[in-house]
Amino acid sequence: MRSPIPDFLDETLNRHRSDRSGENADYIPDLAAADPEKLGICISTLDGVEYTSGDSEFEFSIQSMSKPFIYGLALEQAGLPAVLDMVGVEPSGEKFNELSLDKKSGKPLNPMINAGALAIHSLLGEDGSSLAERTEIARSGLSRFAGRELRVDESTAAGEWEAAYRNIAIANMLRSYDVFLDDPDDVVQGYIAQCSVLVTVKDLAIMAATLAGGGLNPITGEQVLSPRVNRQVLAVMMTCGMYDAAGDWMTEIGIPAKSGVSGGVFGVMPGQVGIATFSPRLDRHGTSVRGAKIFRDLSNRLSLHIMDAPEPARSIIRRDRRFVGNNGEMVRICSLQGLIQWSGSENVIRAMDDPATSTNVFILDLRRVNEINGVARKMLTEALSRLKEDGIRVVLMDPEDMMKCKGPDSALPDVKILDSLKSVKGLKRVRNDRRREMADRSV
Ligand code: GLN
Repeated sequence: MRSPIPDFLDETLNRHRSDRSGENADYIPDLAAADPEKLGICISTLDGVEYTSGDSEFEFSIQSMSKPFIYGLALEQAGLPAVLDMVGVEPSGEKFNELSLDKKSGKPLNPMINAGALAIHSLLGEDGSSLAERTEIARSGLSRFAGRELRVDESTAAGEWEAAYRNIAIANMLRSYDVFLDDPDDVVQGYIAQCSVLVTVKDLAIMAATLAGGGLNPITGEQVLSPRVNRQVLAVMMTCGMYDAAGDWMTEIGIPAKSGVSGGVFGVMPGQVGIATFSPRLDRHGTSVRGAKIFRDLSNRLSLHIMDAPEPARSIIRRDRRFVGNNGEMVRICSLQGLIQWSGSENVIRAMDDPATSTNVFILDLRRVNEINGVARKMLTEALSRLKEDGIRVVLMDPEDMMKCKGPDSALPDVKILDSLKSVKGLKRVRNDRRREMADRSV
């Protein structure tokens, strides 16, 4: 079979190809001269499969899309408290290059605007690291997200430095408030090098998939960010990544994303995919016009809005049946399915706690469960212990050891573990009278 996904991507690009609205960024020659017709997309899965269409191998400068990744690297290096001490996490609602600091704290509002990103860049390496050292930390760090060695485009960097009045002003403002003590020109030049790293949409999609996968690069298998830092990066990206369009973007498109003035946009669907687009003409926020439209399309057509919640917890109880054994014992078999998180475990516990059912043996059947997260495992473990304390015999059907304790505080009570339901064969099914009664009443 030929996968329909590349065709879907071709159609998506073609729907927007003729849109020529917006303008290239024109503050440096390399961006002004970029071919405005270029259009590319890549979606990367969490196991590193890349679906592409259009100009997917074309290189462009990463620009502001470097900010979340460098923020992550700085968090890994300096720790959350030290980074939060320097740069806040509040959306500014301002343009990316606003000369702004938090009125009370004197800190940049967030790491996605230039003021915050310059401060974050100054954290790279040791105190007083040189421009060359910081540039290399940024370049090699971005490469770890992409899974290949990226390079700085010297021509873009030179153009940026020629036109860096605004960023130099911001860096001097930061220095005057002692946000950092480094030479402001060096910080700007390092930040410019960081922004001038060349990527393709394929690189960006892998970088995005790394964030989508909790910090794990799907190609190299390297854990580039710890899950805690990764979550911090995504949360800040979601609230601040699109600057003064952040609210519109999150409500309408709902994919945490970051744009750059080169025309790239990447988006992260946690646990699902990384997406990247490239098209140079920009809207008034500095975001690619066609990129934003394509993201809107993908959000609608692939139902990728982050607030479209996954399956509700009630569907995790697949069956809940009662039987009478030969000796008159009441046996209850509760079969679960899918992914069990906190709300799902609450659902199961509520079913266990049913006062109307007298149970002697409670069998929890996990054969169709795909995953139980840590907190749900803890909740269910505790509930099973309590059932045992109430004098109920607890049996677990858990051939894949989903409930095996993975931490010191989640020790499973001493329960019988079955691999199949063979041993309960021959039990006589008891109809759920209570449920029948309720159904009768509703007729
Ligand atoms: N190099 C650009 C700047 O700092 C990046 C801005 C952007 O992509 N939004 O002005």
